[in-house]
Amino acid sequence: MSTDTSAEIKIFDRRESEARSYCRGMKAVFTKARGSEMYDSEGRSYIDFLAGCSSLNYGHNDPDMKEALMAHIAGDGIAHGLDLHTETKAGFLETFEEKILKPRGMDHRVMFTGPTGANAVEAAMKIARKVTGRHNIVAFTNGFHGVTMGALAATANGYHRGGAGTTLDGVTRMPFDGYMGSDCDTSKFLEAMLKDGSSGMDAPAAILLETVQGEGGLNAADPAWIKRVAELAHEHGALLIVDDIQAGCGRTGHFFSFEEMGVMPDIVTMAKSVSGFGLPMALTLVRPEYDVFGPAEHNGTFRGNTHAFVTAKVAIDKFWSDDAFEKELARKAEILEEALTDLAGMVPDAFLKGRGLMRGVDVGSGDLAEAICGRAFGKGLIIETSGSEDQVVKVLAPLTTPEETFRKGLNILLDAAREVTVQTNVAAE
Ligand SMILES: *Cc1c(COP(=O)(O)O)cnc(C)c1O
Repeated sequence: MSTDTSAEIKIFDRRESEARSYCRGMKAVFTKARGSEMYDSEGRSYIDFLAGCSSLNYGHNDPDMKEALMAHIAGDGIAHGLDLHTETKAGFLETFEEKILKPRGMDHRVMFTGPTGANAVEAAMKIARKVTGRHNIVAFTNGFHGVTMGALAATANGYHRGGAGTTLDGVTRMPFDGYMGSDCDTSKFLEAMLKDGSSGMDAPAAILLETVQGEGGLNAADPAWIKRVAELAHEHGALLIVDDIQAGCGRTGHFFSFEEMGVMPDIVTMAKSVSGFGLPMALTLVRPEYDVFGPAEHNGTFRGNTHAFVTAKVAIDKFWSDDAFEKELARKAEILEEALTDLAGMVPDAFLKGRGLMRGVDVGSGDLAEAICGRAFGKGLIIETSGSEDQVVKVLAPLTTPEETFRKGLNILLDAAREVTVQTNVAAE
C-alpha cells in the first residue's frame, strides 16, 4: 500500500501558498491519527509531541468525543446556528459553568467570538478599550497573541509584525518577567512607567499577558510577578487580560494557567484546546461588569461552532469533573522534567523552560534546536521549536498520552539530541 511521498508532496509545492510552515520540516503526508499517534501514507507511525500546538490536549479523535459528535451529525443535529439558542450550546454552557467557572469562583460571562484565538484577543482588547475609554494596551516582550491587526499589535515577534505592512498602534511594550535576567524585577519598571505622568506612556486600558509565553520561548512568569502586575493593573484602572489560548485547558497542570496564584483576570481568552477535539472554537470570558458590547457589536458568522460545543462538553465532563486528571498531569510533568534535564545535560549552557506540560529546553541556537527536531522526526517523533531564535525544543504532547508512549517519545527525543550533539561536538574539535 506504500505510495511515493515525494510525488504526493508535489501538489503542495506546486499549488499551496508559500505561507505554509509546519509542513516544510516534516516531509510526510498524514492520513490518520489516534490518541497521541499519527500515521502517514507510507504506513509509518509517529508520536505527536506537537498536538496541534496544544489544540489537541486530549489527543486525536478521543473516542467519547468522536462518538458524541457522530451521533449529533447522524441525528441531524444543528451544524451551524449563528448565535441562535441551541440545545447543544446550552449543554456546553451548563457544563462549563458547573465544572469550570463555578468551582473557581468565576462569575465571568462567556462570549463566543469568531473561532480563532486571534479573534478572542481582538474582542478582549476592544472590550478593555470600550470599558475604559483608553486606547493604549500594555503587552510584553516575546508575547504572542495572534496575527490579525489588533492582536498583532500586541504580538512582539518582528517577523510576524513585518507581515502587517502598516503601523501597528495602540500597544506599549514592557519587559516580561526574566527579560532583563533573573535578578531584575521588571514589574518595578512597569510600576514606575504607570506612576509617572511624564513616563511617556499613555494610561492603559489593559495589561495583556500569557503566564507562560507559548510561541515566545516558553518563558514562565513567576507567580509573584504575575500577582504584582495584576495589582498594578487594578491600581491604575486597567483591565487584566490573561491570554490562556495555549497555556490553558490543562497544559500547565490546571484548567487555567493562573490558578493558585491569587490572581483573577478581568478577561480570559481561550481557543486551541477548548473544543477538545481540535475543532475551531474561541471564547472570551469577561467579568459581568465589563460585558459591554451591544448585540453583534463584535460579531462574526462562525461565533460558536456547534460541533465544537458537542465535543467541548464531553471534554469537560470527561477530564474536569474531579481532580484525577490534574493528578495525572502532575505525575507526567515530573517525567517530562526528568527527561528534559537529561537533554539539557547534553548541550553546554542549555536550560529548561516552561511549566507543567508546557516545557522545553533552550539549546542556545535555532540551528541546533532545528537539527534535534529534524532528527527526531526521522525517528518518528513530531516536535517543534519555539522562541525568538527558534532556539527552544518544545514538548507539547497530548496531556492524555499514555505513560509508555510518553516515555517512548521522550527517549526518541533524547536519542536524537545525543546523535546531533555528538556530531556537533566532533565537528567542533
Ligand atoms: C495560538 C495563539 C493565539 C492565536 O490563536 P489563533 O487561533 O492562531 O488565531 C493567541 N494567543 C496565544 C497565546 C496563542 O498561543
